[in-house]
Amino acid sequence: MSQDSRPSIVWFRLDLRLRDNLALLAAGARRGPAIPVFIWAPEEEGNWAPGSASRWWLHRSLTSLEASLRGLGSRLIFLRGPSLRSLREVAAGTGAAAVFWNRRYEPLVSARDWMIGESLKKDGLEVDTFNAALLYEPWRVKKTSGAPYQVFTPFWKACLASEHPPAPAAAPARLAAPRKWPASEPLESFALEPGTDWTNVMGSTWEPGEQGGLARLQKFVKEAVADYPDNRDRPDRSGTSGLSPHLHFGEIGPRQIRHALSALHGTSRPRSARAVQLFMRQIGWREFGHNLLYHFPHTTDKPLRGHFADIPRRADGPALRAWEKGETGYPIIDAGMRELWNAGWMHNRVRMIVASFLVKDLLLPWRAGAKWFWDTLVDADLANNTLGWQWTAGCGADAAPFFRVFNPILQGKKFDPDGSYVRRWVPELARMPARYIHAPWQAPSAILHAAGVSLGRSYPKPLVDHQQRRLRALAAYEQAKRNSRVQH
Ligand code: FAD
Repeated sequence: MSQDSRPSIVWFRLDLRLRDNLALLAAGARRGPAIPVFIWAPEEEGNWAPGSASRWWLHRSLTSLEASLRGLGSRLIFLRGPSLRSLREVAAGTGAAAVFWNRRYEPLVSARDWMIGESLKKDGLEVDTFNAALLYEPWRVKKTSGAPYQVFTPFWKACLASEHPPAPAAAPARLAAPRKWPASEPLESFALEPGTDWTNVMGSTWEPGEQGGLARLQKFVKEAVADYPDNRDRPDRSGTSGLSPHLHFGEIGPRQIRHALSALHGTSRPRSARAVQLFMRQIGWREFGHNLLYHFPHTTDKPLRGHFADIPRRADGPALRAWEKGETGYPIIDAGMRELWNAGWMHNRVRMIVASFLVKDLLLPWRAGAKWFWDTLVDADLANNTLGWQWTAGCGADAAPFFRVFNPILQGKKFDPDGSYVRRWVPELARMPARYIHAPWQAPSAILHAAGVSLGRSYPKPLVDHQQRRLRALAAYEQAKRNSRVQH
């Protein structure tokens, strides 16, 4: 790397942290000043520009990063897209010699980044990019034939057998400031925060930013990871890490997580070692999602496996709205959808249940669900969301078999046995006894009355009959399978 004293630009994107940030370190390693920039260019992300909940998070995360950079004697310069034009203007105005960033893997964004890199190099700038988001980059993990994996277990085995990811790097102690800073827009001018009280619960649930991510990781390692195998499927317990939005925005990286857990993994306590292994497997699913999206870029819009593409799906606006609002009359689904709306997050088990209900009971297109999640999740992530939806719809890699239709009553009874998750998010059922809370329509009228529940008034009757809809879905999937056999 050259050692001239001209400034280098650090382009922050989904790597909003100081620790283990290789692009930032690369700038620090040069003798010259660093100019950290963030460019707001949602139009460059096509159909998948950050949704409402992500924008709320982004605003806070950027505020936090700006404060941390000031602590290093630096700043964060806010600019508007087009990204290439902004980078060129900063480079021309400051005499910068280099531009560094950490890689993203979404199809449209990585194509844009490549184009920007080539253009800047033609301008005579040094350009270098780094991995801050993944343990194993997509082009490294492939079958011996060179083809990408489509099944998780062999994929993860291959990852674990490959070269270990390096230890995370420390944050720079200081960053040299340029003699003159380029002009910055006020962050508020991006209007990322919605002007309503919709985000009240999100505000009390989350602490966006690097500190919030580190605090969550530490709490999880100290208090919850050992019980992860028992609690991870229970939405009524705080048994998972809650790291997903921090990971998405790069406020914490997977190398840091791996490192924090490795001390426990080496422990003589086999229970902790098993828990860490299971937790790292989930991080592995995240790696798998990124790997798939990289190798199969069309999957954000089209099924990976074509044979379920022609299932007749309906555009049923009222059913979609009932699902979105958490008014289906199935308590576990309504609890999940209201958790999503209020907290900007939903437990993984419940994500699978609500997604199955949308694509199988309601026979609505999975993309309609994926879009709603995209707008309302604080962890909305193109790789993980695409993987989750295609898995549930049975058309993705290593997908749930098409005949698996989650039963919302049995799932509720199994994973929220005393109904406390439902009571929390569906307060109109708070006084229902556990025996009936997952199927209130089965309760005798005296019990409904005593609980203050009036079906169809204070809480909806079931939108559809699950058993009938299950059979209808199975018939549709069977037909699609037969059609695909005929076509091939
Ligand atoms: P933990 O159990 O603590 O897991 C740790 C980390 O591992 C997570 O933060 C996440 O990064 C990763 N992870 C865990 N499970 C999965 C999984 N099944 N697939 C991929 N990565 C996983 N996750 C997102 O981050 N963004 C999404 O937009 C998203 N959409 C989903 C949509 C559907 C329909 C489904 C079924 C799942 C989706 N997931 C998504 C995956 C998963 O539900 C969340 O990652 C998880 O609930 C986040 O909570 P946590 O951090 O407490 O998880």
